[in-house]
Amino acid sequence: MDLEGALDLIVEVPDFPEPGVLFRDLAPLFAHAEGFATVVNALAETIEPDTELLAAVEARGFMLASAVGYARGLGVVLVRKPGKLPLVAQRIDYALEYGTASLELPAGVAGPGARVGVVDDVLATGGTVDATCQLLERAGAEVAGISVVMELAALDGRAALSGRKIRSLLVA
Ligand code: IMP
Repeated sequence: MDLEGALDLIVEVPDFPEPGVLFRDLAPLFAHAEGFATVVNALAETIEPDTELLAAVEARGFMLASAVGYARGLGVVLVRKPGKLPLVAQRIDYALEYGTASLELPAGVAGPGARVGVVDDVLATGGTVDATCQLLERAGAEVAGISVVMELAALDGRAALSGRKIRSLLVA
C-alpha cells in the first residue's frame, strides 16, 4: 500500500468531540496492517538524523512513537497526563481553547543535551506539541524535530511552533 492509500484510511467525523468540529479519526488507519506499517515507515523517515530519543503524548502518540522508535532503533519517553507518573521531572500547565491541561515528563529519561524527536498523530493548534517541547527543554533536552501524521492547516499549529522543524505526512 502506498502512503496516499494509507492516509486515505483516515476518516472525517463531523461534530466530534463537540458541534462544529471535524475530527480526523485515525483508528481505521491504525487497525489496517499495511496502512499502519506504511505510515510508521514514512514517519520514521521524517526523524532527524541526530535524534537520540523520541517523546510522545498519550495516547495515540504512544503507539506511533513506539513503532517509529522500533523502526529507527530509538527509545521512547512517555509524556503523560497528571497523576500517572511515579517520578516527575517537569510539569507544564497550558491553555486549551476552553480551559487548561497539564502534562508531565518522567524523571531521569530525557537528560541535559539529549536530542529528542517529538511524535504525535495530529497537529491541530500546536498547544500539545508546544507544551511537550517546553517540558523537554526545561529538563535540558533539545528538540530535534516534530513528526506528525497529519497537520490541520486551518488551526495553524506551525505558528505556535515557529522556529521548530515540523514534518507532517499530510496537510489538510
Ligand atoms: P493541539 O494541541 O490543538 O495541537 O491538538 C493536538 C492534540 O489533540 C493531539 O495530541 C491529537 O491527538 C489531538 N487531536 C486534535 N485534533 C484531532 C483530530 O482531529 N483527530 C485526532 N486527534 C486530534
